[in-house]
Amino acid sequence: MTQIRPRGAVAPLRRPALSSRRPSVDAVVASLRPEEPVHCLRPQAVSAAARAFVAAFPGDVLYAVKCNAEPTVLRAIAAGGVTHFDCASEGEVRLVRSLFPDAAIHFMHPVKSRGAIRSAWQQHGVRDFVLDTDGELTKILEETGDGEDLGLVVRLALPKGNAAYDLSGKFGAAPAEAAALLRAARPHAARLGLSFHVGSQCMDPSAWTRALALAAEVIAAADVAVEIVDVGGGFPVAYPGSEPPALDLFMDAIRAGAALLPEGVRLWAEPGRALVAGGASVVVQVQQRRGDALYVNDGVYGALSDAGAPGFRFPHRLIRLDGEAAEVERAFTLFGPTCDSADVMRGPWILPADVAEGDWIEIGQLGAYGTALRTAFNGFDRAHVTEVSDSPMLATPGYEAGAPARAA
Ligand SMILES: *Cc1c(COP(=O)(O)O)cnc(C)c1O
Repeated sequence: MTQIRPRGAVAPLRRPALSSRRPSVDAVVASLRPEEPVHCLRPQAVSAAARAFVAAFPGDVLYAVKCNAEPTVLRAIAAGGVTHFDCASEGEVRLVRSLFPDAAIHFMHPVKSRGAIRSAWQQHGVRDFVLDTDGELTKILEETGDGEDLGLVVRLALPKGNAAYDLSGKFGAAPAEAAALLRAARPHAARLGLSFHVGSQCMDPSAWTRALALAAEVIAAADVAVEIVDVGGGFPVAYPGSEPPALDLFMDAIRAGAALLPEGVRLWAEPGRALVAGGASVVVQVQQRRGDALYVNDGVYGALSDAGAPGFRFPHRLIRLDGEAAEVERAFTLFGPTCDSADVMRGPWILPADVAEGDWIEIGQLGAYGTALRTAFNGFDRAHVTEVSDSPMLATPGYEAGAPARAA
């Protein structure tokens, strides 16, 4: 059988031979003088963040694989104590299963192909599936043969909140509908759950308390036993000019909301960004300067998607190997390498005033929705990947390496 390679498939990240195994970002640049973007992974920072979240969260932690599916990152997540994975596609299920034969995989996309449900159930041992319509419940029951040990989770839609990314527009059942789905699913479920997502990079802990209060109302209206409430992801990280409240305040808000749930309900969470944002920097090279415009070798079709139209700001610093940079700084706009005029990242990027062709820029907090989003558009998909052991450019309160676990 021939494998159909999708048009625009992304070239694998290339692992260069480096003199020392776990150098700093500066050492990587000095050794490679790279003309292609370099993804510098920090597995120990990912493990530390995972450990901190697992220690703080009063329930099971499912890592949301879409946020960063690099095998190095997935292994670091597991090394941090995470044994559950939130997958959204057959490809993610297959990848996680190939790395972790014993992990619990949860299929948390509310709209799945029949083939994906079937292969997850039959070949990959997936037992928990999410749904937000009657039609999806029918599909899951037919493709799993209404099997024993089936876990069913109903996704509840939330009113629009104040997260940077609203995730309520596309998926989720309205409260009355969700209650009806819980009733319909109950006779088929070895485990019945209710899930929601407050939106990504949600800075307000009370969003979880409000969502849990709504979940409690839905469960009461359904009037059936529910074993699991899944509080989703959305836990924020630090970006320049935006430091979130400490992790413990989110956990306090979750405990306050969970107190409204029926006795004995088990909590799940699906963090993505919070576990991996600090886990990668991308080093780009300046290939041309025109006034305050810098043309660099990665952009919105590469790892810098969120720096484009969504307007996220990322920590950054100049790396120049030969000579000192000017002390005076000024604001620059970055342009990516493709020919699309949408390939622009307005920042502002504050850098030494004498930035020049050949300089490099380290851009941090790209472990989340950065390295995972690159495309092959316009042929700019070549990049190096390596591991570094220096610290992330920004720390998020509560996730620092060695952060003390909260007393129970
Ligand atoms: C994307 C996603 C997550 C992870 O969200 P973060 O904001 O990265 O924590 C978790 N659950 C679901 C259903 C998602 O779609």
